[in-house]
Amino acid sequence: MSRQRILVLGTGGTIAGSGSGATGATYRPGGLALQSLVAHLDALGLDAELVSEEIARIGSQDMGFAEWQALHAACLRGIADPGVAGVIITHGTDTAEETGILLDLTLPTTKPIVLVGAMRPADAVGADGMRNFANGVKVAGDPQAAGRGVMLVMGDAVLAARDARKAATSSIDAFRSFPRGALARVTPASLDWFAPPHRMGESARYPFPGELPRVAILTAGAGMDEKPVEALLGIGAQGIVLAGMGQGNAPACVIAALARAAARGVPVVRATRVDEGLVDRNVEVDDDALGLVAARALGPAKARMVLMVLLASGITDARHVQAAFDAG
Ligand code: ASP
Repeated sequence: MSRQRILVLGTGGTIAGSGSGATGATYRPGGLALQSLVAHLDALGLDAELVSEEIARIGSQDMGFAEWQALHAACLRGIADPGVAGVIITHGTDTAEETGILLDLTLPTTKPIVLVGAMRPADAVGADGMRNFANGVKVAGDPQAAGRGVMLVMGDAVLAARDARKAATSSIDAFRSFPRGALARVTPASLDWFAPPHRMGESARYPFPGELPRVAILTAGAGMDEKPVEALLGIGAQGIVLAGMGQGNAPACVIAALARAAARGVPVVRATRVDEGLVDRNVEVDDDALGLVAARALGPAKARMVLMVLLASGITDARHVQAAFDAG
């Protein structure tokens, strides 16, 4: 069998980061050229042909619409090319959740699209980037990777973008998979899938947005008042995601202000500031009466991205927004 061709799209992040050498604490994400990472990987003798294209060289905290648009277009080219078996995106971990879910919702493909990142810069002792990259090649070139949506490969695990959540600031297994577990375990020598593919259709769930509406995340805190909600409406927020306490709760005056926002046509999604757990409808907050939406399994960062995609598609009605969140 000929070697699988894999399109590698570089965006930067810690995987392309370097700084104060093997033992230093400070570094700059995205400083290294994609070409040098790919050359390093090629030298390992992996059984794949890597074709690279640099989209950006930034820390993923600076990802925005222009980079997402360029990434989406480059993925579409890879999807359309019958010679390309899969796509790898090197990406910072800070916003891998956002990019992952955005592409998962908007790419029409069953080809594997794999995000890889690193928690340690490339020149740090024990750097994890090359291993994650090599594991990503194993996944992107595997015929069984088809139909699993966008994936994130970190710490020898393959996570579905819809489930991946960054849960630690610096450890190399920083991501959790919630509510479903990891899709597979992977090493450069092995790949074991735990579940059947879940995205069999080739069509995208939503069109890629022409622009991203302003959707804000409001974190709830004890003793807060409703002024922050009013401030968000004042700057033209088109949607609000509450990073609420527990099951998406907030002080009564804040919930009342959010209900007023919803009544004015600004959709409000209740997520949680807690690391894991579902936010269900009508548990302590009467969503039915107040016109609010429950984020279910999605944390605030992904809930915001989903809401932006929905609003950009003209989906604003609370019932339809809720249906999208229920679909997970
Ligand atoms: N700030 C970095 C980034 O997201 C962190 C990382 O890549 O792990 O680009």
